[in-house]
Amino acid sequence: MDSNQLDMKEWHWQMDMLQNIDVGLVVLDREYNIRMWNSFMENHSGLSPSHVVGKNLFKLFKEVPEAWFKRKTESVFLLKNRAFTTWEQRPCLFKFKNYRPITGIAAFMYQNITLIPLVSVDSTVNHIGIMIYDVTDMAVNKLRLELANDQLESMSRTDRLTQLFNRGYWEECLGQEYSRFKRAGQTCSLVMFDIDHFKKVNDTYGHQAGDVVIRLTADILVKNKRTTDIAGRYGGEEYAVILLDTSAQNAMTFTERLRKDIESQLVTHDGNNIKYTISLGIAELVSGMSDYKQWIVCADKALYEAKKGGRNQSVIYKPGQGDA
Ligand code: GH3
Ligand code: MG
Ligand code: MG
Repeated sequence: MDSNQLDMKEWHWQMDMLQNIDVGLVVLDREYNIRMWNSFMENHSGLSPSHVVGKNLFKLFKEVPEAWFKRKTESVFLLKNRAFTTWEQRPCLFKFKNYRPITGIAAFMYQNITLIPLVSVDSTVNHIGIMIYDVTDMAVNKLRLELANDQLESMSRTDRLTQLFNRGYWEECLGQEYSRFKRAGQTCSLVMFDIDHFKKVNDTYGHQAGDVVIRLTADILVKNKRTTDIAGRYGGEEYAVILLDTSAQNAMTFTERLRKDIESQLVTHDGNNIKYTISLGIAELVSGMSDYKQWIVCADKALYEAKKGGRNQSVIYKPGQGDA
């Protein structure tokens, strides 16, 4: 075998490997016509090289965003630099079906893309190579992990019985609103409320009936509040709501609506009809408060006044009130 024959043989081996490698290989010319299409591309697109070679990429594959892709490739042509895009920036370049037996999360193949300049003998770049890596497994694992983390985070913030924020997370939110007020000074009110004579509900109808009442109260609260208002379960049958951009007077409109809504409920549990009421305390955030805890104390004092005044009512905190 002379050296020419050896070179040819080597060239064939290399071509064979490029054809069979588990990476998509495509060559494009300056006009974005396809010049090479390996087996990976054929298998996943269902289109043979004879079908695609010589055809325009954007005409054949409508999913490839022309303006974006041209912007990417221009620097490869002009500066002779490589360019990359990951599945996180753009999940895929070619929309190939995902054949893996993975349920749910991936209907298509996630791809990392590398664009390389193909330098001619006269050192000009008139062709570029696209390498398409199938990163579906990696992407799915990462997405699963993110989903699990989101669920865990959400669980750690949520009260199991009511699905409201739990006390810890709600207090964090209150701290943030307090800081925002210190910076920007916008109006904000805090409402604390408590179910009246709740021990009697438990004692008369049982703990499970009590739980039903606690859950129903949370549902009515969510129904009545704005989506931006931040509601939490503060204690056993105590609730707290941060009303953004709301004065104490406007908060009173909300608390009275909530109070009347609850008063009008008839809870049926185990054949018993249960009626109940709530008492509410309102405190608008003012500059004299030294921290968010003091804000809670003020709302709590107003709540105490509501209880003292006969329950089933809303009271706005006034400085000096209950400050024995
Ligand atoms: P008041 O009108 O003064 O608020 O009287 P009250 O009977 O409601 O008194 P208090 O607020 O002190 O009662 C709280 C009761 O709530 C005591 C506790 O047994 C009950 N409780 C706390 N958490 C839960 C819960 O998750 N489920 C049930 N069923 N009961 C709870
Ligand atoms: Mg109570
Ligand atoms: Mg209580």
